[in-house]
Amino acid sequence: MNRRKLVAAFAGLFAATRLADAIAAAPAVPATIEKLKLSDAEWQKRLTPEQFAVLRKEHTERAGTSPLNGEKRKGTYVCAGCDLPIFRSETKYDSGTGWPSFYAFIPGALGTRTDFKLILPRTEYHCARCEGHHGHVFDDGPKPTGKRYCNNGVALKFVPA
Ligand SMILES: [Zn+2]
Repeated sequence: MNRRKLVAAFAGLFAATRLADAIAAAPAVPATIEKLKLSDAEWQKRLTPEQFAVLRKEHTERAGTSPLNGEKRKGTYVCAGCDLPIFRSETKYDSGTGWPSFYAFIPGALGTRTDFKLILPRTEYHCARCEGHHGHVFDDGPKPTGKRYCNNGVALKFVPA
């Protein structure tokens, strides 16, 4: 191999390495929302004790205690932990349960998991960004989805339109 070829070979190798680095560093199209991960101590600073208990420890607020039960204005319900929009007012309805209820969520905003806290399996759902617990989903909701997203009001903040 002569000197010119050797230089070209090294240049090619260098370019290939640079390309690989560039590909590795390029922001991928996010398949999911970028997670917000904080320690319990950090969450306690950001949240009220009631919000912390529900969002981070999966407690359930007492039925009928949320001011959002009576909220009827147009707007968006965002996660109290990270402000991710979770529900639109158009999908809110009065379920009579004492918890703010919705028949659909904003696509991508929630993740679900089966829990056995009450022995019978229930579908728990949580914020897709901070993984804060919001509530449980049941199959006795109104049309068009037939779903009832039974949400702890304390886990949401209402942003009027
Ligand atoms: Zn969140």
